[in-house]
Amino acid sequence: MLSYRHLFHAGNFADVFKHTLLTQLLLALHKKEAPFCYLDTHAGIALYDLQHAWSQKAQEHEQGIARVWQRDDAPPALQAYLDCVRRDNPNARLRWYPGSPRIARTLLRERDRMVLSELNVEDCAKLEAVFASDRQTSVRHMDADAALNMFVPPRERRGLVLIDSPFDRAREFERLVQSLKRAHARWDTGMFALWYPLMQPGIMRRFERLMINSGVRKVLRAELALHSETWTLGMRGCGMLIVNPPWRLEQSLRPLLQWLWQVLSPAGEGGVRLDWLVPEAPVAAPRIRSRQRN
Ligand code: SAM
Repeated sequence: MLSYRHLFHAGNFADVFKHTLLTQLLLALHKKEAPFCYLDTHAGIALYDLQHAWSQKAQEHEQGIARVWQRDDAPPALQAYLDCVRRDNPNARLRWYPGSPRIARTLLRERDRMVLSELNVEDCAKLEAVFASDRQTSVRHMDADAALNMFVPPRERRGLVLIDSPFDRAREFERLVQSLKRAHARWDTGMFALWYPLMQPGIMRRFERLMINSGVRKVLRAELALHSETWTLGMRGCGMLIVNPPWRLEQSLRPLLQWLWQVLSPAGEGGVRLDWLVPEAPVAAPRIRSRQRN
């Protein structure tokens, strides 16, 4: 039984963070002519009505996209993402929030394609309706792991996999590391983006260790926190691991995340973290020469 419904959370600060990164990764794929494939393993419904009762319940978008979408001092790199949101809200009133499939679709060129998997029957039906006549999009009612098994590596051998679990079951960090490890073993040059919520420090340290020991290399970590580690009243922040990120992504991402943090955390709590959780190659231990005995 799937209880998680993203409509309760659509457009919150975590979506703003995630979709900002998603647009940067997809735009980087435009740098080469060759086609790419985007796989969204937990696709959601692609378009969220922020006036819906579920969305209105906690109005999480008020602390998220509502703070960002009309800012005229946004960094240029944010433009592609903000354009998507503005296109869906042409009357300067925030009513609709585009999910990852809809944002990604605007960044597909004619030769690119995307595959969306969603396990919730109702949500999948909505997703199918959105992309019904789209030849570049394939929608599958399917579990994320089954989709990873079936579509990785894509025939293009270029692209991005977004793994955006709702974290609605225990031991999800462990499960995701295993899924990522298996998918990476089949496609070690692919770009993978794995979203996660910031939980208690002990849980995060364990996740960090699992990733470091997974054998997956070249993992960039981006995190945005709006509250300190002791905050317990909800999600204090979130992060994304990016495997095989575009060249020099960290340089362009840092000012972008810093700007988002300032806008999304008016109280000035939390902060941004951007570092290599696992660098490209293991750091070679200095070689100590043994003295030759005569
Ligand atoms: N990626 C979407 C976006 O950014 O707009 C949001 C996705 S939401 C966080 C997670 C989605 O995963 C929900 O729609 C949920 O129904 C779906 N889901 C939950 N478990 C799943 C599974 N095992 N496989 C595929 N989808 C799953």
